[in-house]
Amino acid sequence: MPEPSLIHKRCIIISAPSGAGKSTLINRILPKFPMLEFSVSATTRKPRGEEQHGKDYYFFSNEEFSLAIEKENFLEYEEVYAGYRYGTLLSEVDPIWKKNHLVLFDVDVKGGIRIKQLFMEDAISIFIAPPSLEILRQRLDARNTDSENNIKSRLARAEEEMRFSHLFDHIIVNDNIDKAVEEISTLITHFVEQKTCVQ
Ligand code: ADP
Ligand code: 5GP
Repeated sequence: MPEPSLIHKRCIIISAPSGAGKSTLINRILPKFPMLEFSVSATTRKPRGEEQHGKDYYFFSNEEFSLAIEKENFLEYEEVYAGYRYGTLLSEVDPIWKKNHLVLFDVDVKGGIRIKQLFMEDAISIFIAPPSLEILRQRLDARNTDSENNIKSRLARAEEEMRFSHLFDHIIVNDNIDKAVEEISTLITHFVEQKTCVQ
């Protein structure tokens, strides 16, 4: 186990409006980078489809989430949708950094901007944009995991989130999955190599 002073807290931040394809892209990228580990967040929303506790999210009750805030267990947290909170647990990311691995965050736009401010040059922030809001709507419909109301609130938030895309280090348009995976992989490879050189 390295000394605390030798722990290098590096991370890749991926943010995008819901339905832009983050989970799809992350699932393709993770196997390509063994030193990259996904940070499983806590959330108060209910599991969707095949999602599993501890793998996709830690599904917390409102009480559990509030207690975790009180105990200062979060690196950051947000109420992403009205009534639904999401947060990064320190107990999740610290063991990754202790191995000198990089953390991959899948967080909302506000969370992404906050984490970038915390880690600055030790972080690379990537915004995944859908080709258009119309295509985003089609993808949310096709995914078939959200109610009409849920889709409406996700689309409204997407429009808002797109306005902050310029605050990210890079913007990748997820038109073609293979192309987007290639582009993100190139960014990660450069970031890892550059960070390894300066150490
Ligand atoms: P997010 O994690 O950002 O909410 P998902 O990864 O669940 O989004 O993707 C939303 C839907 O869009 C899924 O059904 C997924 O298969 C589909 N999808 C993702 N990327 C593309 C793409 N480039 N072209 C077409 N469909 C895509
Ligand atoms: P979903 O409900 O579609 O899984 O996620 C909704 C949004 O919450 C996505 O934008 C996702 O990136 C974001 N999110 C997931 N975990 C966290 C987290 O720990 N912190 C923040 N700030 N956002 C998160």
